[in-house]
Amino acid sequence: MSKVALITGATRGIGRQIAIELAKAGYDIAMNYRKENEELVMTKQEIEAQNVKCLAVKGDVSNWEETQNMVEEIIKQWGEISVLVNNAGMTKDKLLLRMEKEDFESVLAVNLTGTFNVTKNVIPYMMKKRQGRIINISSVVGIMGNAGQTNYAASKAGMIGFTKSLAKEVAARNILVNAIAPGFIQTDMTDILKEEVKEEIAKNIPLKRMGTATDVANVVKFLASEDSSYITGQVIQVDGGMLM
Ligand code: NAP
Repeated sequence: MSKVALITGATRGIGRQIAIELAKAGYDIAMNYRKENEELVMTKQEIEAQNVKCLAVKGDVSNWEETQNMVEEIIKQWGEISVLVNNAGMTKDKLLLRMEKEDFESVLAVNLTGTFNVTKNVIPYMMKKRQGRIINISSVVGIMGNAGQTNYAASKAGMIGFTKSLAKEVAARNILVNAIAPGFIQTDMTDILKEEVKEEIAKNIPLKRMGTATDVANVVKFLASEDSSYITGQVIQVDGGMLM
């Protein structure tokens, strides 16, 4: 199987680590970003240090035209995308009572419609090649719910339904579609929580710690590899046993 991976939201956090781990495994990396900043430059350098090619592709995943242009650019350069990781995501936490329509819609637009936009643009090329892997980064919150996250939980549960339905649609073309549901992972997204809150959460996780971006990236690497060739339509929790 050829090795070209597109990772959305690849400049920092979990996406960055996924890009680096796949680069270490020999994949050429198309890294999606929104803003040109130091994080982009540093991640690109780290990917290239693994002796693979790296193409930085700009685009807001919630914008259909931008995702279309982004995928076209990769195809023009490399002719294919063998692995797609839908990782870009955001939160706007509020109790429903205080949540504005915009808070709900913007989170759905990035996390769920963004997954649709990128996948819909990539899938024709995978179908033509009769091979591909799609890995959607959902969340345990999409399975168990979380107060203050109706918008986020709905988007992540939506990604799970999307994953299973698409897995059924494209299995005959040898395209495998799976989701990963991380628990609490140390990134900017969870850094906004107070230290006491993080300690309390860690106490209630059987493995007694928050996860790292590498914990998630290792499972992506497995799902992208030949070792997972009989797995599709699954949701793999990477949560230290938080939800059983
Ligand atoms: P993060 O540190 O906040 O990084 C999010 C990444 O997504 C950034 O690169 C960001 O780009 C990008 N992004 C956001 N909106 C985008 C858009 N509209 N178009 C393109 N890129 C966009 O978050 P993270 O913790 O690494 O999370 C990565 C994924 O894992 C998300 O889907 C998240 O929901 C999921 N997850 C995280 C946790 C956790 O505990 N951290 C748990 C479960 C699931 P900019 O730099 O431009 O903002």
